[in-house]
Amino acid sequence: MLEVSDLTVRYGQHRALEQAAIRVSPGEIVVILGANGAGKSTLLKAISGICEGLVTGTVHLDGIDLSGMRPNRIVDEGIALVPEGRGVFGDLSVRENLVLGAYSDRARSEEAANLDRVYTLFPKLRERGPQIVRTMSGGEQQMVAIGRAMMSNPAFLTLDEPSLGLSPLLCKELFQNLAKVRDLGIGVLLVEQNAKQSLAIADRGYLLENAHIVHEDTANALRSDPAVQAAYLGAGGAAAPHTYDDITVTHPDLPPPDLPQGFTVTRRKARTVSADTLLGQSVADLVAGASKRSVPAPRSASPPQVSTDRIETVLRDIETAARNARNRTRTPERLDVPAPTPSANPVNPDKPEPPVTIEVYRAPRVEVYRRRPGGDDFERS
Ligand code: ATP
Repeated sequence: MLEVSDLTVRYGQHRALEQAAIRVSPGEIVVILGANGAGKSTLLKAISGICEGLVTGTVHLDGIDLSGMRPNRIVDEGIALVPEGRGVFGDLSVRENLVLGAYSDRARSEEAANLDRVYTLFPKLRERGPQIVRTMSGGEQQMVAIGRAMMSNPAFLTLDEPSLGLSPLLCKELFQNLAKVRDLGIGVLLVEQNAKQSLAIADRGYLLENAHIVHEDTANALRSDPAVQAAYLGAGGAAAPHTYDDITVTHPDLPPPDLPQGFTVTRRKARTVSADTLLGQSVADLVAGASKRSVPAPRSASPPQVSTDRIETVLRDIETAARNARNRTRTPERLDVPAPTPSANPVNPDKPEPPVTIEVYRAPRVEVYRRRPGGDDFERS
């Protein structure tokens, strides 16, 4: 049994968690629901011993007090964390990522058996062993992250918003996989904002609001609780509309994506812009305008002549690249925009235009904080 009692976390003067008490049994899925900033990640980090704040209270695993233990010792005791953002090594292969998960004492001697268990759980990972992880889809990378945590042979698996950024179909697969982990007798502590799907597989749940656990119940009871429905499931218990980063509905004539029951995709209205509005603008302005979903003002009073169809195609693909780039940190988004019909070349109508290549980069941001000597306060360097 994993038991958290009276857990309080302070970041300087800010109290991110107040006297939290939760428990998770082996073979049970427990979900923590809460809004942004409620303290969910803080709770998981405090359990795993990696919280930057001042932590008080206790965490017990099968009666052993983990409070104050180093993070690697906590993994040795049997708690594995799948952090928000997955934390996979993108430049390593699937197999290398998995093997790295087996560094703990409790797992090292059973690496082969654990690898086999992970491959049985996720057969796709066996097939994809040599694949470099950053070339995989978001859902597949999440599978690698869970597989790597499972390689430490945990008694309890904790996951920080694993469904973030995944399409409804991939979410469904993810939650089904977590149910399989539970069926192995492993306790699963899941922090989620996707209340509908997480409650569908969970046994129990807690509501975390403004650093306080305010409610605890069975998943079934939470699902039918009017307050939970209003706060987390949308009015009347129906799923609130979601927008998903990896579903792009770019054209009103395209059929809707294949969504599981209860999910809706908010379709954006097709944007109609006049070619004259766009002419003479730099690609940087177009990307900025596309990501803000508005069209920047024209720069040039006498723009060159380019066909409307061509501009529409390029603009649509820039918008897709900009949206996809939000989830990628290293690799540039490359788009080869197909050339339009030969007659669309305004310079030489007999010669088809060459494809346009667009690259969108997202620079990684590193923030450095310095702890003031003798205090809990941080200052940004
Ligand atoms: P989200 O769903 O947005 O990830 P959360 O419920 O996981 O939110 P936490 O990340 O636990 O919330 O943060 C709880 C509060 O503590 C927030 O107000 C956050 O700004 C603050 N906080 C988190 N980490 C730190 C830190 N390292 N230093 C200072 N404040 C922090």
